[in-house]
Amino acid sequence: MPDTQKTLVLLKPDALQRDLLGDIVSRFERKGLKIVAMKFIRLNDEMLDEHYAHLSDKSFFASLKQFMMQTPVVGMILEGYDAIAEVRKIVGSTNPREADAGTIRADFSMNVPSNLIHASDSDEAAVGEIKRFFDEDEMFQYEKITDRFIFGEGV
Ligand code: UDP
Ligand code: MG
Repeated sequence: MPDTQKTLVLLKPDALQRDLLGDIVSRFERKGLKIVAMKFIRLNDEMLDEHYAHLSDKSFFASLKQFMMQTPVVGMILEGYDAIAEVRKIVGSTNPREADAGTIRADFSMNVPSNLIHASDSDEAAVGEIKRFFDEDEMFQYEKITDRFIFGEGV
């Protein structure tokens, strides 16, 4: 699929605890985003120092890391047209009470840090985060019979 992008998503420990993994994955599937990688990841301190480096001076940094290490998270790479921006749109604003209705965070959560999901916020972040959490051989390219209805010109 030419001209598509890939982006990284993490389903946080609150999504796992609250049995929302399926509902969240389903929203991406229904949009037509293709899941090209998916696995459990046990985050550690070092990974989170890197992943949340932009928040290292915040008062909530240590508790955010603790929150993210409570259970494994589900890591996914999603592919689609403008996938980075489209996924952020579906996820909604960081603060679930400011997120638009219809977004994952608005519909299923109420507070930070437990806003269910992480998604890359720029081209640069997506490239770095995919590399941080996935090896090349964990990413899969495959065709689906629906590809031309979702990605194609309809013929
Ligand atoms: N977070 C928090 N308190 C805040 C802001 C953020 O606990 O005041 C947590 C929240 O889980 C958020 C994560 O830190 O998703 C990363 O913050 P960022 O600003 O990168 O937001 P995101 O990209 O996740 O929307
Ligand atoms: Mg962020």
